This record gives sequence, structure tokens and C-alpha cells, in this order.
Amino acid sequence: MIEDELAAIAEQGLYRHRRLVDSPCGPRMMVDGRSVLAFASNDYLGFANDQRLIEATVDAVRRWGVGAGASHYLGGHFRPHDDLEHRLAQFLGLDAASLFSTGYMANLAAVTVMVGRGDAVFADRLNHASLIDAVRLSGADSHRYRHGDVAGLEHLLVKAKASTRLIVTDGVFSMDGDIAPLADLLAVAERHDAWLLVDDAHAFGVLGPKGRGTAALFGLSSPRLLVVGTLGKAAGVAGAFVAGSELASRWLRQKARTSIFTTASPPMLACALIESLRLIEDADDRRQHLTDLIRRFRQAATPLCANRGWRLSPSETAIQPLIVGDNKESVALSDALLARGIWAPAIRPPTVPAGQARLRISLSAAHSVDDVDQLIEALLAIRT
Ligand SMILES: *Cc1c(COP(=O)(O)O)cnc(C)c1O
Repeated sequence: MIEDELAAIAEQGLYRHRRLVDSPCGPRMMVDGRSVLAFASNDYLGFANDQRLIEATVDAVRRWGVGAGASHYLGGHFRPHDDLEHRLAQFLGLDAASLFSTGYMANLAAVTVMVGRGDAVFADRLNHASLIDAVRLSGADSHRYRHGDVAGLEHLLVKAKASTRLIVTDGVFSMDGDIAPLADLLAVAERHDAWLLVDDAHAFGVLGPKGRGTAALFGLSSPRLLVVGTLGKAAGVAGAFVAGSELASRWLRQKARTSIFTTASPPMLACALIESLRLIEDADDRRQHLTDLIRRFRQAATPLCANRGWRLSPSETAIQPLIVGDNKESVALSDALLARGIWAPAIRPPTVPAGQARLRISLSAAHSVDDVDQLIEALLAIRT
């Protein structure tokens, strides 16, 4: 049975392989025994291997040891955790933030504490898998709206009977790179008495003034707004938070099973993240450089894709998907790039809809202009 299904997965070009990395995360990486130029991480600001974060972590591990030893609610809530939560809330301009070990767990918590059986969730069709799973776990009635379709969402809300309603959306869509129409979503949430949960995994640290995220980009604030952010992407470390109003945060801390029933992350990571937050606030130059790289890439890639029957996703962010369509062709393109020393992973269903397999090219402030030019040259050299 399992053997047959594994064979079927391979047959459809959907078998997932993990490439083996022998160097720190960065623009140049040792992958499967060779040095490549990598466009495969979410390390948008280039902090994953930053010397200042390494030193903050080394100091912290000497001071606090390696493990938290218990959950936040037993003996595992250390001063660095608490300081980081306060710093995050202050940074975001929200009442409070609560730490989680991963973004996946933060999303499970944020959705399941806000809605349950008999309540209603309204979700963008292209939301991240962790949000989809969170909605399932909540037991709430799930209504999915067409990607970015605010009018469609409002139509669903008008018809919905449940009194507790939650709209959930990625801030920046993880496999498409486009930005959710957050101002319109919040207006709809306010008109129809719903909470709005934004998963800002790919915007935290990158978008908006000082990298405060999608809500800050649109200048939004509201007691209905809940923000999930991950700390393993632009922040360069690991972990996540859920932030929002005082009331929502108190409720979350009483109810979030993925925090209450799990060991707190090592305090040294919180120390690294406090330093990372300082770097993020100070990283206007990196964000500007990243913006310049995105523009340069799109200018060159747009005609190139048109000539080859590929489609460049309409993305203004560091996530630049090159949509190929066929699963095996996407993998072949990724392999052909790797043969030229460029690493850009192929993304296939169920991560993206069937027939929309793609390369997910991810740019970082750690890349140089020359790195982007090398990527373009490699794409140009590939014959389809
Ligand atoms: C990566 C990601 C997550 C999960 O975050 P982790 O900290 O990696 O578990 C959640 N949502 C989105 C949109 C993501 O891209």
C-alpha cells in the first residue's frame, strides 16, 4: 500500500528530496557537495549567519545554558523570553506578543483560540498550509474565498450566520509573493464584526516602515487585528509570535495548547532575537538594497519568461516565483540551474495548486547585484 503510493508520488513528479547543506545559510552554500549561488532561503535580510547574532547567541548560551527545561507555564518562561515579547509588542505597536516555538504552532494557536465549533472562518485559498491545518483543527465552519477576492469574502460574510467570525490571510503569500489587500480586508472585518488574522511570516522585518510588516505598510491598526510573525525568516533565528490586543493576548495565553503543552524554546534564541530585532530596526539600507534587487530581477526576467512560456508571478516582494506549470518540467528547470551552480527549488502540488508548479526564487539583501545578474544569465542559457 505505502509502496504503491510512494511509487505513484514519484510517477507524478511529486517526490520530495532534501538536498544536503554543508555550510551556513547565505548566498553561497555547499549543497550536495558543491558550491552554489543559493536563492532558496527565506533569510531576506541576510541575518541567519550574522556575526552579531552569533555573538549574542554565544554570550547567551554561556549565561542561560542550552535548554528552557519546561513550558512557559511551568518553569520555562525566562527573562529573555519576557523581554523579547515586550520588545516585539513595542516594535509592532500592539498591546502584547506571545512567543511560540514555530510559526506553524503559532498559527495553530491563533486560529484555534479564536474560533471553534459553530464559529466561522474565512480563508484566502492560497493561505499557508499551517493556516489550513489550523482551521481544520479548530472545528469551525470553513469558507474559502478566491485569492485576494475581497468582494467574494464580503459576500460570504453577509451570508454567514455564526456570530464569531475570523478572517485569515497570509500578509505576503508564501508561494506567490504578492501582498494581501489588508486595508480592504480590515474594512470588511470591521463592517462584519470579524477578527482579522494576518500571517506575516514573509513580511515581518521586510515590509513597512522599519520592517514592521504588512499592517504597518498599509498604516493599519485595530483591536480586531491579530498578527502572527515567524522569527526564522527575515529575523534569521527561529520561533514565532502571536501579537494583538490586550484582550486577545490574555485569552491566547489561557488557551493556546501549542504553547501550554510544549517546552519553551531555548532562552539563548530569545537573546539572539532581541539582537535581531535591533538589527531589523536599523536595516533600512538592507531593505532598500533588497528592493533594488527585486526591481533588477523583474526587469530582466519579465521578457525572458515571456519568451520561454514561463510566467513571472506579479510579486513586488523578495519571493519571485517563476511559474512553469508541469511538475517534471519545473524539477528539470531547477536541476538545469543547479548544473550551472544556481540553487532555486521547484515547488509542486500540494504546496501550490495543480498545474502551477514553479521555481521559487527567493532574493535576499545578502545577494549582490552580480548574484542576480548571474541568476538571469543562467536562466537565459537554459533552452526549453
Ligand atoms: C514559514 C511559514 C510559516 C511557518 O513558520 P515556521 O516558523 O517555519 O514554522 C507559517 N506561515 C507562513 C506563511 C510561512 O511561510
